[in-house]
Amino acid sequence: DSFDAMGLQENLLRGIYAYGFEKPSAIQQRGIVPFCKGLDVIQQAQSGTGKTATFCSGILQQLDYGLVQCQALVLAPTRELAQQIEKVMRALGDYLGVKVHYCVGGTIVREDLRILSSGVHVVVGTPGRVFDMLRRQSLRPDYIKMFVLDEADEMLSRGFKDQIYDIFQLLPPKVQVGVFSATMPPEALEITRKFMNKPVRILV
Ligand code: AMP
Repeated sequence: DSFDAMGLQENLLRGIYAYGFEKPSAIQQRGIVPFCKGLDVIQQAQSGTGKTATFCSGILQQLDYGLVQCQALVLAPTRELAQQIEKVMRALGDYLGVKVHYCVGGTIVREDLRILSSGVHVVVGTPGRVFDMLRRQSLRPDYIKMFVLDEADEMLSRGFKDQIYDIFQLLPPKVQVGVFSATMPPEALEITRKFMNKPVRILV
């Protein structure tokens, strides 16, 4: 039950410890390794349990840093949450040289276009602006191999279902999917059935 035993890259471990984490939380103990193996993962857990670091570590472990293309897309229901995730991703990935872009509505579109064309590894955002960037082909889906929905139940209750489905349609068919949610209402289960491949379910 330590981060050391998870087979993570040295520079990811450095980031985790530098951020101040000493021991993995319960959800991290059960979720990081399956995510790092490329498996589809459903984690049902309340916020505050450490889910952000679970999927951030899983993503950071699997990125190809020599390829400056978006390889992971994380969606969150609110700008504030997206920003929090971006901050954790940057911090944990500090020694790996990860390039993360925060992509949400209410910001200058031209800036999104500029940063995306300059090249990033990870995009964290809200569904509307992310879909807009995909539609403009400013965010190219070709290299995206990991897709995370954080607070999926909250995203669905905010009416993002159609946009989530639209985004799924644009992603490569073999994309790894992580769904993190406090509850699993029918619409969330439908997403897992439609878009996930033999998901590992972790209930904390
Ligand atoms: P989250 O559920 O991802 O929003 O995390 C909730 C809080 O727990 C955040 O303030 C994290 O920084 C903190 N946290 C997450 N994992 C750990 C850990 N392994 N050790 C100490 N604090 C943690």
